[in-house]
Formats: sequence, structure tokens, C-alpha cells
Amino acid sequence: MKADNPLYHFHYCPICGSSHFETVAENARQCTDCGFTYYTNPRGATVALIVNNKGELLVGTRACEPAKGTLDLVGGFMDLDETAEEAMCREIKEETGLSIVPAQLRYLFSQPNTYPFSGICVKTIDLFFEVLLDTAPSLQGRDDIQGLQWIGSPFRTLCPNFSD
Ligand SMILES: [Zn+2]
Repeated sequence: MKADNPLYHFHYCPICGSSHFETVAENARQCTDCGFTYYTNPRGATVALIVNNKGELLVGTRACEPAKGTLDLVGGFMDLDETAEEAMCREIKEETGLSIVPAQLRYLFSQPNTYPFSGICVKTIDLFFEVLLDTAPSLQGRDDIQGLQWIGSPFRTLCPNFSD
């Protein structure tokens, strides 16, 4: 089992505490004492590509580790019993103050990702949504995002050699 697998760090059965917690698959350990099998699954997360009426993309600066101080898109983990759409609207509200309803979201694609957190590599499945605004509001970053800004022609800004 590779060190970037979250189960790499789990040595005891979470039900009975036994140390006989054996790897039985890339994503599973099983307790040979009580029989409990624990599967690690990708954690659902949402990412918003929010575009204003000038075609500019909303980006923020990360206020927390990992990658504190780097540019980031609005988004975050889904909570238990929450739809992806509810999670996306909640994260947008928490980080930007914008009130978005699920009907304003357009699902785009998903991307597996790894998020270093609390000493382990959390495996995520990131769901990307597009949000098109008919205004260009001035926004203050909140929660774990600071310094929200609109960037025009994002590929030229982020990749100066990009040609479209
Ligand atoms: Zn056990």
C-alpha cells in the first residue's frame, strides 16, 4: 500500500481496536478478529467556475494550508446527506457571500484529486460547476478564501505563453 493511500496510516480496527487490521484491497482493510471491513472512498468536493458578465473568472487566494497564499477556485467538501448542488451553493455563499440557487449551476465535469490534510492524503472527486452571472459584483473573500478577484482571459493571465 502506497503512503499516499489514507489507509496507509490506519493500523487498528475502528470497531474493536485490534491491530490485526489487514490490507485486503487497494481501498480496504479488514479486521481478522471481528470481521469488520473498512473501505476508503473518494470524498466528494465541489468547485465553481464563476464567470461575470465581462467573461472574467472569479478566483480567490487561499487563507489556509495547504497551498496558503496561492490562487484557488471557490469550492469545498460536501457534507453528509447533502447533494452536490446544495454543497456548491453553500460553499459559494460561505466563501463569496453570493446567493446562488441550484438552477443557476451547470455541471461540467469531474476530476479525481488529492488534498493533503491533517497528515494524510485525502482522495477527493471534485465536481466542477459553471455559474454565469449577469453582473460583476465586487466581492470580499470569506471563510478559507481571501482576496477574491475577477481575472480576465484567465489562460493569458495564468499561462502567459498560452495562445487561443
Ligand atoms: Zn475489529
